[in-house]
Amino acid sequence: MAPPLQPVRGTRDLIGEDAARHAHVLETARRVTALYGFNEWQTPIFEDTKVFSRTLGETSDVVTKEMYTFEDRGGDSVTLRPEGTAGVCRALITAGLTQTLPQKVFYAGPMFRYERPQKGRYRQFHQIGVELLGPATPLADAEVIAAGWQILNDLGIAASVELHINTLGDTESRNNYRAALVAYFSEHAESLSAESKTRLEKNPLRILDSKDEGDQKLVAHAPLIHDHLSQAAAEFYNGLKSTLTAFGVPFTENPRIVRGLDYYNHTAFEFVTTALGAQGTVLAGGRYDGLVEQMGGPSVPGVGWAAGIERLSMLIAAPEILHRPAAIIPMNEEYHGTALNILKSLRDIGIAAEIAYAGNAKKRLERANKSGAKFAVLVGEDIKLKNLADGSQQDVLFSDLPGLLRS
Ligand code: ATP
Ligand code: MG
Repeated sequence: MAPPLQPVRGTRDLIGEDAARHAHVLETARRVTALYGFNEWQTPIFEDTKVFSRTLGETSDVVTKEMYTFEDRGGDSVTLRPEGTAGVCRALITAGLTQTLPQKVFYAGPMFRYERPQKGRYRQFHQIGVELLGPATPLADAEVIAAGWQILNDLGIAASVELHINTLGDTESRNNYRAALVAYFSEHAESLSAESKTRLEKNPLRILDSKDEGDQKLVAHAPLIHDHLSQAAAEFYNGLKSTLTAFGVPFTENPRIVRGLDYYNHTAFEFVTTALGAQGTVLAGGRYDGLVEQMGGPSVPGVGWAAGIERLSMLIAAPEILHRPAAIIPMNEEYHGTALNILKSLRDIGIAAEIAYAGNAKKRLERANKSGAKFAVLVGEDIKLKNLADGSQQDVLFSDLPGLLRS
């Protein structure tokens, strides 16, 4: 016999409780984002490679080493999406919606990054995310963050996460800050990792996000953006903080939050937990006012976040196991037809019911007991409703069945 086929490294199947956790996160996110007025969009899971390479930044981890990029049979370079924002912005332009603003977008689906698989880090993982396109006011940033906060709250994990916020400033602030960073890191260039030496030339801010230990020691004493903010950027940041307070969202200011992708400005934030080891960021995002323009569209400001469903799934309590549909059991072959009628009638009025594919009444009852069904309907001369939780049994009229099964 051939050896059994294996899943690709870094991918996983969602079965049983894993599937239930995933579904619970997704349902919660859909419900909460709808409360905030977001609409769900679906974009393709692969795009022209340029959608990502032009926007995420040529020195970002994702572009330099994590993308699943390949040539298709027609010779075009395509990439499995590593994140959702670039695709949503591309879709905004494609659909001609850049003048129809604001657009409040929710999305969910698989993302792909070639990373070293470990707990909470996979090569195919899943994200939920929102993008608020159009308004360039701190109210938009605060609303997006509040929606994320409410999702974590409704998932029951708000107590184990902390919101860290920071500002990356506007262009003027960034230019001032960049000069200060270049001066500082150039002085310590010999202690920088090879990668960060390149970043020093191309994008010094990226060094702040380095995972290299030597770099991190230097970063601890690097200049802070807050000393280089323009007045407009400082006002924006103050507006964000007061609106978060108005929405009742608790936060901590953390000047070390810089996002890993190039397109961010002003607001950057992360919800972090200590419960997942090194994979502590569960939901993260920020403002990206230049992105749509970078993709060939007009200037459309935007702010959003994404969260890993796998990391959220690990933090939540096991979702309630749902009862299996009621088991319809003919007492013998003679009642098979009546059982099918009852099965169909119940399903027609929205009551979950199923029938075993084979076996005698005793076998079927045993199976129903094991399956986690709450009720069995025994179909013979009379109809009996058996409560599988306590074993009690009563004669019922067919017309009373729906009410009893719904109870
Ligand atoms: P990290 O620093 O952990 O690599 P990141 O900055 O690359 O995270 P983002 O690009 O901001 O992550 O993605 C948003 C969220 O998606 C993360 O906070 C995390 O929950 C999730 N995520 C990112 N990469 C992975 C992965 N490889 N496997 C599982 N979840 C992931
Ligand atoms: Mg990463």
